[in-house]
Amino acid sequence: MESEQVMLPGLAWAQQSYSPTDGAASDRDEEESAAKPRYEAIDREQLFWRTINVERLIAPDHAARAIWEFVGKLDLSGYSGEVRAVEGKAGRPAWEPRLLISLWVYAYGQGVGSARAIEELCEWDPAYQWLTGASVVNAHTLSDFRVKHDAALNGLFVQILGVLSADGLITLERVMQDGTKIRASAASDSFRSKERVERALQQAQEQVEAVDEMSEEETSRRAAKARQRAQREREERLGLAIEEFKKLEAEGSIKDKKKTRVSTSDPQARVMKQPDGGFAPSYNVQVNTDAANAVIVAVEVVQAGNDFEQLTAGLDRVEHNLGETPAQVVADGGYVSRDNIVEMKLSGVEFIGPQCDEAGKGQGSYEGRGVSPQYHSSQFVYEAASDSYRCPQGKRLSYEGKEERHTQVSYRYRAQRSDCQGCAVKSQCCPGNQVTGRSIHRSEELAEVAEFRHKMQTEEARKIYRQRAQIAETPNLWIKAKFGLRQFSVRGLSKVGMEALWACLTYNIRVWIRLRWRPLGEVATAAV
Ligand code: SF4
Repeated sequence: MESEQVMLPGLAWAQQSYSPTDGAASDRDEEESAAKPRYEAIDREQLFWRTINVERLIAPDHAARAIWEFVGKLDLSGYSGEVRAVEGKAGRPAWEPRLLISLWVYAYGQGVGSARAIEELCEWDPAYQWLTGASVVNAHTLSDFRVKHDAALNGLFVQILGVLSADGLITLERVMQDGTKIRASAASDSFRSKERVERALQQAQEQVEAVDEMSEEETSRRAAKARQRAQREREERLGLAIEEFKKLEAEGSIKDKKKTRVSTSDPQARVMKQPDGGFAPSYNVQVNTDAANAVIVAVEVVQAGNDFEQLTAGLDRVEHNLGETPAQVVADGGYVSRDNIVEMKLSGVEFIGPQCDEAGKGQGSYEGRGVSPQYHSSQFVYEAASDSYRCPQGKRLSYEGKEERHTQVSYRYRAQRSDCQGCAVKSQCCPGNQVTGRSIHRSEELAEVAEFRHKMQTEEARKIYRQRAQIAETPNLWIKAKFGLRQFSVRGLSKVGMEALWACLTYNIRVWIRLRWRPLGEVATAAV
């Protein structure tokens, strides 16, 4: 019986162009060297079915496995309260919190901060497919999960710190505090005065009322529904902007009502100075980092642009999260104030910061203003009985007021305008002053401030302070550069706070993976 021959694609061409019975060997060699090489065709248009072993989609030491394992250690019961799908009842089962948390943690670590992007990645990215078991989690579920569980998320952050602490990664011997500005989801030109916001709110309310009066048929179309939703959201944001004006008024932070502006996109954002010197709508993210392994031990998003008032609050958060206060706190010049120095002294936390030497600055400014040494303030004589000074020309400088600045309190004294403007030595005493009499300041330094200043002159304290930048700025760098969180994707202080918390707990889990996690295979090998 003759065997059946199956012609494979490509073989026919080969048989036409080459026969083993053709010519001599040298002729064949010549022909072969003249023919073009043949390569496997790549067909990217084809559709095919393939068997996938989900477990083998990613390597044994892949970060997604570590995240899944780590999240599996945590008590996630705080998330189960709102799950409506329960066993024994009909309906679609919910996605388990362990999966949604793992997806967000893995995504933030890859620089992905959008729920829609995660949904798309679930369709083709092996790591996301491994996490979901090759299913797709929709963007709405992911988006809601990220910002709907404030208390549970805070609890999760604390639990993660507990795991890291038990693994010896946190010591609380030295904690750095630093603030970083992250841009809000608001444009610089979205800021409006109260008057304009009130007008816009009235228009928005009228538009919403008009839509409410439309017939069901008119509003049933998808586009109309989307428009209706957008108008309601705009009305809500404008209402929040009015609330924000009220809050600013109650705080007494409005100096000029006409000049005060609030964003209509994210009313709780504030215009803050950026590291590049510019200004942009932002939030101030306060981060406390344990120096032992650069673990973030506390985080809070605040609306204040400066850091002076954030030090004690930061240490309170550390205590809340870990049950104890650090032995030492290191922070930059933005945190050095009399109040903070005194507060740290009272709470028993050693404060390390930059040197503050006001005397040096004063000397420099005399030279800059052209004041002769015989007219420096040290040459003026204080008279306690009348609480005034006598200048070298015998004129009186009376008490004018008190000034508080960073680490110092000073009392200002001023001479009569008529005495100075007609004085023969004015060009040596106050050459630039064409309007008033000469003033001098009597400074008062608290014992705590003097102690801090002396300590920061020692090499030991300076050496500790030099560590600050690297340790404190490491998490900020990771969050902004690696996780891509240079701008929040959500709006409002509460949601922004949760996004910052997601980024920080992702960072902490990454520290644990780097320093403690060993893939199962490696553990088994090590045990042999
Ligand atoms: S300028 Fe005024 S303060 Fe200075 S020496 Fe003359 S009178 Fe005194």
